[in-house]
Amino acid sequence: MAEANIAKEEGKEIIVCNGVNKWFGDLHVLKDVSLTVKKGEVLVILGPSGSGKSTFIRTINGLEEVQKGDIVIDGINLSHDIKDIEAIRKETGMVFQQFNLFPHMTILKNITLAPIWVRKKPKAEAEKIALELLERVGIPEQADKYPGQLSGGQQQRVAIARALAMQPEIMLFDEPTSALDPEMIKEVLDVMKELARSGMTMLCVTHEMGFAREVADRIVLFDEGEIIETGTPEELFDNPKHDRTKLFLSQIL
Ligand code: ADP
Ligand code: MG
Repeated sequence: MAEANIAKEEGKEIIVCNGVNKWFGDLHVLKDVSLTVKKGEVLVILGPSGSGKSTFIRTINGLEEVQKGDIVIDGINLSHDIKDIEAIRKETGMVFQQFNLFPHMTILKNITLAPIWVRKKPKAEAEKIALELLERVGIPEQADKYPGQLSGGQQQRVAIARALAMQPEIMLFDEPTSALDPEMIKEVLDVMKELARSGMTMLCVTHEMGFAREVADRIVLFDEGEIIETGTPEELFDNPKHDRTKLFLSQIL
């Protein structure tokens, strides 16, 4: 019985985007984007600069409004259930290129702030969870330091821990390693790999092709606001169907 329930959960469509369109003024940045993501899936989003990748993942946690189409996150329709914006934000955690930690707060404070103030978690419980998460991202000894005392890679791992502290169903990553020195990229990707293996539903905008090949269940290629091609890493990298996919891959690989 329990197994049947887990199987059902895993097959659940946790993100459903249907004909999503977004304009910034006259600029049509998302053009009829349709995409379904099942619970536990890891998607890597690729595409040239300006193709709408960031805008797309920002629409998923309600940071950007769409003008046409539907986005349903874990059964909550973002276009209709505006009142539920808090419920939607609960579903998703987001990690940005810039880590956006609060510089004047310790690492522990950075991670416990939202759980305590937004989720009303008792301080001791929030701190216990934060310390477990710091352990999970490999930096338990940094709890009492300030962001400025940490390397970029460590700060990004704190940003991941901070997002996880809100116990999201979905994690969104927007070029999480793009601002890092090369030697720090791996430590962040390793944390993301562990998260993927743990069953987290993940949407990752990244240019790390090794990560995409190894970790992604599916790759989605954006170009000029449209999804050009979707497939497994093998399908997309080894046997791309569309000329725009081939062109994009020839430029980055
Ligand atoms: P990507 O992440 O793929 O580089 P973005 O989603 O950031 O692309 O941007 C898609 C397009 O939308 C670009 O042409 C960009 O200049 C434009 N854009 C993004 N954000 C805004 C905004 N807040 N206002 C106006 N135009 C924007
Ligand atoms: Mg972007």
